[in-house]
Amino acid sequence: MAPKLTTCTFCGVGCGIYLETQSNRLVGAYPSMSHPTNSGRLCVRGWHVHEVAGAPDRLKKPLIRSNGQLHEASWDEAISFIAERLGQIRQKYGPDSIAFLNSPRCSNEESYLLQKLARAVIGTNNVDHGAGVYCNNSIDVLMDMLGVAASTSSIDDLAASEVIVVDGVDLNRQLPTIAGWVIRAKLKGARLIGIGSRRNRVAENADIFLQIKPHTEVALYEAMAKVIVDRALANLPFIKAHCSDYQAFLEQSLNCDLQKSAAICDVPADAIEAAAISFARAGSAALLYSTGIESRGRESIQAMVNLVLLTGQVGKKGAGLFPLTEQNNLQGVCDMGMLPDRLPGYRPVADPAARAAFAGAWKAPIPASPGLDAHAVLGDRGGGKVKAVWLDRYDPIATALFGDVRCLGECDLVVKQHLFQTGLSEFAHVVLPTTAFGEERVSFTSTERRIQLAQKVIDPPADLIPAWEQVVRLAQAMGADWKYTSSEQVMDEIASVIPFYSGVTYDNLAREYGRQWPCTTERPLGTPRLFEEGSSGRKFAFAQIRPVTQGGAASGEYPLTLVIGNSLYYWHQSVLIRHSETLNREYRLLLMDYPNGFVEINTDDARKLQIRDGQKIRLRAAGGSAVSMARVTSEVRTGTIFVPYFVQQIRSQLVPQNGNGSSLIPVRVEKETA
Ligand code: SF4
Repeated sequence: MAPKLTTCTFCGVGCGIYLETQSNRLVGAYPSMSHPTNSGRLCVRGWHVHEVAGAPDRLKKPLIRSNGQLHEASWDEAISFIAERLGQIRQKYGPDSIAFLNSPRCSNEESYLLQKLARAVIGTNNVDHGAGVYCNNSIDVLMDMLGVAASTSSIDDLAASEVIVVDGVDLNRQLPTIAGWVIRAKLKGARLIGIGSRRNRVAENADIFLQIKPHTEVALYEAMAKVIVDRALANLPFIKAHCSDYQAFLEQSLNCDLQKSAAICDVPADAIEAAAISFARAGSAALLYSTGIESRGRESIQAMVNLVLLTGQVGKKGAGLFPLTEQNNLQGVCDMGMLPDRLPGYRPVADPAARAAFAGAWKAPIPASPGLDAHAVLGDRGGGKVKAVWLDRYDPIATALFGDVRCLGECDLVVKQHLFQTGLSEFAHVVLPTTAFGEERVSFTSTERRIQLAQKVIDPPADLIPAWEQVVRLAQAMGADWKYTSSEQVMDEIASVIPFYSGVTYDNLAREYGRQWPCTTERPLGTPRLFEEGSSGRKFAFAQIRPVTQGGAASGEYPLTLVIGNSLYYWHQSVLIRHSETLNREYRLLLMDYPNGFVEINTDDARKLQIRDGQKIRLRAAGGSAVSMARVTSEVRTGTIFVPYFVQQIRSQLVPQNGNGSSLIPVRVEKETA
């Protein structure tokens, strides 16, 4: 049988791959030569994506806790147990005492059914995805300003960009295939502008690198807008035809002082000027930023969209705004409504017409109040209100950066769906094993809105049922009249309730390379580039932003600013990476010099403090202290301490009372002598 095209499930790029099988085992992966995103290329993760399914410690049977221990159970026992406990909890405490969280790696079908279970069967909007712990700001801002919460263009559009701005995201490490597109565009003559507080490989290749103080992007974009307005480079015909609220934005922009903004960001004013002029004068300019783990403040995203609107860099080849999703289905889980305040297709829960539409489709009333988000559920169980939590392929113990998510231990019921035992199992009352990549036919939506099928090429271990089907069985056990017998039927329903998926069928996803939404009956081939006809329907809206008056968080006693963010090293803690033999080895090698983790300190700061690479140091903040090892590097800017995302305990040790507060912490560094 000819191999079927499938999609890599490690990151949001969604590279096209084929899987090799032998005797119902996955034994290899190789790239599609013609897939528009990766054209024959894969990163190291893609080459080894098949190894996860064959890991020897896969969970294969449901487990139920009794007498303090997890014991094997049948599917019927596990589903009945959960249905009964959820029913009791709902009756005693009400539907909002139950919450559902999933991973941004879950399939579209699984995510759609999970939020439908919450809303239509349990009666709560307490649904969110794991990346929502950090924020869903990007969704809200893009919906308000552009009317669409997604990338406006396709990854291969970057080949035609004259200017590419990469803000904050470490492309080479997080989304390597996109980094390849950017570097190839640069080799063909595109100008590359990097923005961020940490030097990465984008910075090494950039024509202009603006190494700003952490979290001063708003001041930077305001200053760029000021330069563009002052030099009469604003695209006035585009603004007049397609935008609203320009006058208020203009008045605010005219009040901006370039020199003051440059001082706030701590970068030269002439570099800001050069970047702004390049972006505005380009025939096509693209702006890339991350929507994932590294949370972006609402205003920094508004400032980026303002810049794109001011210059009309949208709706044409090589131009656009690229909110990048690092997890493979963050776009899809949001499209499917795994959001506490938005129904599938981003319709607000607060909108009575939207609720009525879904109530009609699902034959059940939809609760009117927005639900608790992941942060509230995991922070303190929504003030103690949440008594039961369902976690689908998501383990906050391994990934959440804030506070102490062990409050889950106080729940009356914790259900975990996962491939493997993880730290969360300690608190779980029921563990449901899930199918792995290659064992089920489902769909994912990549960072360029491309909906693609992941094909079933091997059978799952005996008895194992797909996660989406587990949700169906639970809904049925709780009295719902759900009749899905295949994931394809779920997609048919998704197409019937989400207008921009309305032309999607498994048949057309299996042709060519999936479909980029909006894929409708009028546009069955999908839409690679949004807004080619302008703002279509409603006008784009400029946002007014509070003027920024200072940057950074350091003070006299605590002269350095601690920032938490992603680095290549964080991958070594990923549950999936740890279960790929090759990738586990690769990523652990990175940590050979710092086996217990590290924080990064700039070379000049280290010299002043007489700290050498590999030395034990103590970080002191107003609220506490933490010990780590110093990695001395010029990648971080002076005045900054960078904590890779996997060193989770540092934030809670430094800010114990408010571990989920500010992401910038003023600190000082001392040598640790003990
Ligand atoms: Fe997979 Fe992402 Fe690597 Fe492509 S870039 S092979 S989707 S991990």
